[in-house]
Amino acid sequence: MKTIGVLAFQGDVREHLASVEAAGAKSIEVRTAAELASIDGLILPGGESTTISKLARIFELFDPLKSAIANGMPTFGTCAGLILLADRILDGIEGQETFGGLDVTVRRNAFGHQTESFETNLAFKGIEGPDMVAAFIRAPIIEQVGVEAEVLATLSTGAVVAVRQNSILGISFHPEVTDENRVHRFFIDSMVSA
Ligand code: GLN
Repeated sequence: MKTIGVLAFQGDVREHLASVEAAGAKSIEVRTAAELASIDGLILPGGESTTISKLARIFELFDPLKSAIANGMPTFGTCAGLILLADRILDGIEGQETFGGLDVTVRRNAFGHQTESFETNLAFKGIEGPDMVAAFIRAPIIEQVGVEAEVLATLSTGAVVAVRQNSILGISFHPEVTDENRVHRFFIDSMVSA
């Protein structure tokens, strides 16, 4: 069985652990280099990207995470997790660091404040069945996509909200908070090998 780690410093960790189990894999919380070394794939949850990167620094996991991702660890980031995977960010706080790996430019809080959060239906390339209900919570938008990254979902406005680049998947929304685990299944079944 595949083991998927959820980075567990801050954010909606519990929801991701449940989505991983529902998608048929074993889930563990990751806070140490030993835990990072024991997993087949990694999830960076939604939450607050600035807090998650600071805590990764404090707990000395920032560099191990950055190298694991650069060395091909299958990694899936939602919302703050997408921001943490972006090579370039806009509207970050001063000195905000990301692990990088996705050749994209991501704008934080692109839809405005918490009160501008919304749900919408979305088609996702590579995922069969009806459109998914996608929850956007202080969500980022992918404003520029490098040549190696493939766009998997866009809003009706044309805004890019999901990309894949080799072993890395980044999405603006939160399938872990709606009853939608097809994106987790897609990640685990087609991007993670045991
Ligand atoms: N706005 C948050 C950030 O910058 C992301 C919000 C979320 O993950 N729901 O990290």
